[in-house]
Amino acid sequence: TRRNLQRLRDVPSVTRDGIAVHLNANIELPTEVESVVQAGAEGIGLVRSEFLFMNRDTLPTEDEQAAALTTLVEHMRGRTVTIRTLDLGGEKLGDALDIKPSANPALGLRAVRLSLVRKDMLRTQFAAILRAAWHGPTRILVPMICTVEELIAVKAVLAEVVADFRSRGRPLPDPIPPLGVMIEVPAAALSADALAREAAFFAIGTNDLTQYALAIDRTDESVAHLYDPLHPAVLRLIHFTTGAAQAAGIPVSVCGEMAGDPRMTALLIGLGLRDLSMASFAIPAVKQRVRRIVTAKAQTLAHWVLGQPDAARIAALLDRFETETS
Ligand code: PEP
Ligand code: MG
Repeated sequence: TRRNLQRLRDVPSVTRDGIAVHLNANIELPTEVESVVQAGAEGIGLVRSEFLFMNRDTLPTEDEQAAALTTLVEHMRGRTVTIRTLDLGGEKLGDALDIKPSANPALGLRAVRLSLVRKDMLRTQFAAILRAAWHGPTRILVPMICTVEELIAVKAVLAEVVADFRSRGRPLPDPIPPLGVMIEVPAAALSADALAREAAFFAIGTNDLTQYALAIDRTDESVAHLYDPLHPAVLRLIHFTTGAAQAAGIPVSVCGEMAGDPRMTALLIGLGLRDLSMASFAIPAVKQRVRRIVTAKAQTLAHWVLGQPDAARIAALLDRFETETS
């Protein structure tokens, strides 16, 4: 009910044994920022910056991007905003870029791959983010990282932009936003220990992690019935990534659809996650789950889940856990 949702907005997101589980919002459009605050999100865990590039024939200027991002950061009044760099394939940018369409866009020149081929675009994005970060705590998130070399190359571009600001006497935010990576390709998940030495934080993107681990096109309806984030392979990738982040002492969150599904909450907490980012509307239901969970029981659940051979048995375990705790 509505009153129940309102009450939920004001209660803390803690488990029954008092462990805080941070709930953040994902946004795709600046207009959604209103619902973020209303839903009681702690911050924005993922700004999909693609909106800046869609439905236009030219690339957005640094001023345009800085203005849009500044509005977001100001609106959040001191709550952290995590801004992801462009996560599109060249073909989605139409005439603005002279890039041939890929036969297989999900495996093609997209996201950070495009950013590293068109460093001018990445520099512009970083400059805009640095300007927005002047107005509140901000983090930078890089999509579709596969290798440590890519991460080092991206960090070098950020360092260049920072140096450029300094040499021109442009004001820099303090601190410079930390730079983290999406873990959404199996290669990245399995290199999480190496990536953790170079990344300030991880955000696990379970939508693409599932797509790439199971070789299922997210946009192809004919294989949608095979798409399942509860496949043991996906869960092991999440488990490995979380363990690597904990060992390195860097923050890790989940920001795919899984994070907003209350049926997954106990499992994610049991796997060690304490930070989930989801569509705003999902926050109350997930918070309600969090408040019913006892961490030790969630850990036992995760242990059992990781020993299961298939998604169906895992789903059954999750259902049983839910009935027992509700
Ligand atoms: C993901 O892949 O899980 C993710 C959060 O990013 P997007 O859905 O924007 O690809
Ligand atoms: Mg993704």
